[in-house]
Amino acid sequence: MTSRETLAAHGGALLDTATGGVVPAIHPSTTYARDASYALHAGFEYARDDNPTFRPPEELLARLEGGADARLFASGMAAATAAISALVAPGERLVTSRAMYHGLRTWIREHCIRFGVDHVAVDATDLDALRAAVRGGKTSLVWIETPANPTWDVVDIAGAAAIAEEASAHLAVDSTVATPVHTQPIALGADLVMHAATKALNGHSDVLAGALVTAREDERWAAIRRARHLAGAVPGPFEAWLLHRGMRTLFVRMERASRTAATLAHWLEGRAGVARVLYPGLASHPGHAVAARQMKDGYGAMLSVLVEGDATEALRVASKLEVFVRATSLGGVESLVEHRATVEGAGSLAPPNLLRLSIGLESEADLREDLDRALARGSR
Ligand SMILES: *Cc1c(COP(=O)(O)O)cnc(C)c1O
Repeated sequence: MTSRETLAAHGGALLDTATGGVVPAIHPSTTYARDASYALHAGFEYARDDNPTFRPPEELLARLEGGADARLFASGMAAATAAISALVAPGERLVTSRAMYHGLRTWIREHCIRFGVDHVAVDATDLDALRAAVRGGKTSLVWIETPANPTWDVVDIAGAAAIAEEASAHLAVDSTVATPVHTQPIALGADLVMHAATKALNGHSDVLAGALVTAREDERWAAIRRARHLAGAVPGPFEAWLLHRGMRTLFVRMERASRTAATLAHWLEGRAGVARVLYPGLASHPGHAVAARQMKDGYGAMLSVLVEGDATEALRVASKLEVFVRATSLGGVESLVEHRATVEGAGSLAPPNLLRLSIGLESEADLREDLDRALARGSR
């Protein structure tokens, strides 16, 4: 069997059968002609339903995740909200992990109030708490994120899948941070995998896109496909093409960034000025044992540093960084630093002294020196 690295490098298949091109074509057409007998040429009808430019990244992602099928969306949020609104009806229960991407947590809260969905948020690292929440109502969907923003809580996917299955609920995993390089949720029992493809899948901070991957082609997947077809939250063809190009270097980018992240996390732990380092690869992280079981070839490129002091000190450290860019988002080739409490605002669950680091592809020595200089109290 071809390895996933080779699949990614080839973009799924060496490609354009019409021309022999080693990269696929971009199809900007919004509409497709019918022949005299009113048949479509290749099944494509209209760009909101589907676009041939979507198929290479969708097929590649489905294969990297070990899924049956995948669909692109206009953003990670468009993918997540399409899945949740298609799979959870008013009166049914949606169980989510408490630690998760801030924007999605906000949408879920507002959506569930408006549409009468029984939403329960639990600490999903505690499987007993998760089981009690799932059993406590008519649960149709369990939504987890692992490792989860911004503390990188690790949820036991196989454990969560068993709990969901017992209740005939679907398990969806936001695997944006892990990427298919480090975790394959479907192999661990998940029904659905979501990616903010904006992040590491594309990897170059120049595409907004999302994706869903299904373990099997069932009624629930048909409902999600119908949701995309009717609501139309699809990316443009150029974005889909760029995403596919970015995915071809996914393995080499993630391996390098994860290695640097692990080295920096170990170095930061115990350094003066640092109260705590949160990284699933550290033995001190509460989720390390589960991460060691379910993640492979590293623990990802995201870590958080709790500086000694308060929000003012965290912002001072961020202000001194010169190699790290002060910006939101993650998964690009450039390293980013973010003070989550500032960005999330009122109601943020992020500790005020937390700085989130997205590790890119710069020299590890340059990143370390930058952090070292910024953390030094004398640089005040
Ligand atoms: C960025 C992100 C999202 C949302 O994706 P967008 O493409 O910005 O809509 C969802 N989940 C996680 C973990 C993310 O990092």
